[in-house]
Amino acid sequence: MKITVLTLFPDMITPVIGQSIIGRARYENKIQIDVIDYRAYSLNKHQKVDDAPYGGGAGMVLQVEPVVRALRAIEGHEKALKILMTPQGEPYSQPRAQALSKADHLIILCGHYEGFDERIRAYFDTEISIGDYVLTGGEVAALVLIDSTIRLIPGVLNKDASHEEDSFSDGLLEYPHYTRPPTFEGQSVPEVLLSGHHQAIASYRRAESIKRTRKRRPDLYESYVKRQKKP
Ligand code: SAM
Repeated sequence: MKITVLTLFPDMITPVIGQSIIGRARYENKIQIDVIDYRAYSLNKHQKVDDAPYGGGAGMVLQVEPVVRALRAIEGHEKALKILMTPQGEPYSQPRAQALSKADHLIILCGHYEGFDERIRAYFDTEISIGDYVLTGGEVAALVLIDSTIRLIPGVLNKDASHEEDSFSDGLLEYPHYTRPPTFEGQSVPEVLLSGHHQAIASYRRAESIKRTRKRRPDLYESYVKRQKKP
């Protein structure tokens, strides 16, 4: 997979994508991530990419021209899935990450300022929000999308670090984990996990996963129950 990030702050992205699992996946050529500063595509002699809003009001607005020029300079941009990061977009979710992980090429635009010229929307295929809150810019949101997506690409996680049982993968929160020591300050590991009985462990985990989801995320639990009732 190839990901191209359009940003005004490459230094917010570059150090992060050199680390940990993303860094290793890049090093092993399992993914390619290009970070492009779209200020370089400004036609303004001071490389300005924002201007005051028509009609007045607070803040500055990202201009359409530099964004479209930067977009058109990306090789393969016609076929890529072009994503706009915005709090007004579709709420991001694990199923969406799963779908994005199958794409060949993602182009992600990080906005800034008060907002962007509405005409920018026409050049993007989809708009994604990482939650109902407002960030200063789209960089952190883009990193959330990149991290959650690339870990689902086959071969990116270690063989022993499966994502199939992660929270949300099957619509439930994941079961609790324990490791050594067996007892710590009066808290003991559930007996069943020490039993070596694989079927009993699997049943325990499934039950805990359902119990935890019901308690913490009644919305997910409701959907799970509905799915179970379907013929
Ligand atoms: N005034 C805008 C509004 O109310 O919709 C918010 C602009 S925000 C200060 C600047 C940029 O940060 C946005 O263009 C977007 O790229 C990014 N951003 C902020 N919150 C986000 C969120 N929840 N999800 C995705 N991107 C976000």
